[in-house]
Amino acid sequence: MTDLPDSATPTDAPRAVIVGAGPSGFYAADQLLTAGFEVDVLDALPTPFGLVRAGVAPDHPKIKAVTRVYEKTARKDGFRFFGGVVLGRDVTRAELLERYHVVLYALGTSDDNRLNVPGEDRPGSHAATHFVAWYNGHPDAADHEYDLSVKRAVVIGNGNVAIDVARMLVLHPDELTPTDTADHAIDVLSQSAVEEVILLGRRGPAQAAFTNPELRELADLQRAGVEVDATDLDLDEHSARWLEEEADITSRKNVEILRDYAEKGPKDASHRVILRFLRSPVEILGEGEHGPVTGVRVVVNEIQKGEDGSLRAVPTDREETIEAGLVLRSIGYRGKPVDDVPFDDRRGLIRNTGGRVCAESGDAHRGEYVVGWIKRGPSGVIGTNKKDAADTVARIVEDRSANALNTPTLTDTEEIAAFYAQRAPDSVTWAGWEAIDAHEKSSGEPHGRPRVKLVRLADLVERSRATSNS
Ligand code: NAP
Repeated sequence: MTDLPDSATPTDAPRAVIVGAGPSGFYAADQLLTAGFEVDVLDALPTPFGLVRAGVAPDHPKIKAVTRVYEKTARKDGFRFFGGVVLGRDVTRAELLERYHVVLYALGTSDDNRLNVPGEDRPGSHAATHFVAWYNGHPDAADHEYDLSVKRAVVIGNGNVAIDVARMLVLHPDELTPTDTADHAIDVLSQSAVEEVILLGRRGPAQAAFTNPELRELADLQRAGVEVDATDLDLDEHSARWLEEEADITSRKNVEILRDYAEKGPKDASHRVILRFLRSPVEILGEGEHGPVTGVRVVVNEIQKGEDGSLRAVPTDREETIEAGLVLRSIGYRGKPVDDVPFDDRRGLIRNTGGRVCAESGDAHRGEYVVGWIKRGPSGVIGTNKKDAADTVARIVEDRSANALNTPTLTDTEEIAAFYAQRAPDSVTWAGWEAIDAHEKSSGEPHGRPRVKLVRLADLVERSRATSNS
């Protein structure tokens, strides 16, 4: 049991380690520093910022500007960064609990949901999450290969990730090259033969998970038009009533935007994004068992109201075949279990109640907490994680007041730094990241790009060892 004074001095401040340097980790770090904790942030990669670096679409630089907020946090007293330290490989959960009053998991959700239909793993059928990681220069995806010599792609799912990947597939090279898209992806995307992308929703337009700006933005693409069939916008009675009586403003506006697209008709453009609704893939088609993708067999759905009031896609007996050479499955992320951290397999999340990690019985694990997507699931925008982190940090502060944090036995902060350096000799400190950052930005500047990303771990580590002006 800890017995901490109310106004901790820097030397006797409680210590927290946050595992994951994405948005939720950084918001929590800032709030914990404000609450008087010393904070070490670990990340599996040598680079910070999680999905802001490796997820947000490169043609959305304004969204990425949020990293300035995180940089301010990193400059605060009491903050340290250890990039390239992997929980479960380099350090264990038990070893973190030996060293910190608070272990806070901010790991995000790095796996993709599966469709579980035949042909899902054919060449040419990919998880959108992998495609996103590839064009964003995630080191684990640098060697992925995408055959874009095909004319038509199908993107399965109606969320913002689906829109991102559809847009990236039809961007004009002039829209792509001024971004921080990884060079290997610019090379492949600039030569792409894909002219048509079909975005496939299993439910109707009223249930699409897009946000309004993302849906609207499709109209502004340089060489691509957006097409919606007006008949797809004749809503069934359940959806019409739901939209009228219950739906939030986002869903109502989405339907308006889609109606506007349908009314205007296709613009004269070399490329197209076509939105189709009420269709679920039942098979990814191709030659034999392992031949590349040639199409998608879909079943036409209708919307029915479930007993709990939810509007569900229910298959009819009508089927269609869509010819396509590329399929990107964009049906949501899920968390991966890490080390022996309690995990709820069904939900794909770290088991928790309100941010306190807990056993199956519901009993809280002393000193262990969780924030972000691995706490609540992959939903919301970046800013959602600020409030989410505040909720968990409030529980931590409550537990501190109740003397109910973890009791570490190894308390020397220098020893902790040496421990990481010994376990992960390639680990990178904040100064190391700043050297990488300066190098990437200066490589981008002559080309009018925000940065040119280093995509190989060895290159990132080497650059982190150089001073920022070398
Ligand atoms: P999402 O918003 O949850 O969308 C997932 C989509 O997959 C839904 O349309 C869902 O349909 C569909 N789906 C799920 N299982 C399916 C199945 N078996 N067959 C067919 N379709 C299926 O997830 P996301 O696109 O991965 O985005 C994750 C979060 O990041 C979201 O909160 C998103 O807004 C956010 N994000 C934001 C931005 C941005 O602000 N620019 C960019 C990217 C991501 P149902 O609704 O029928 O389940």
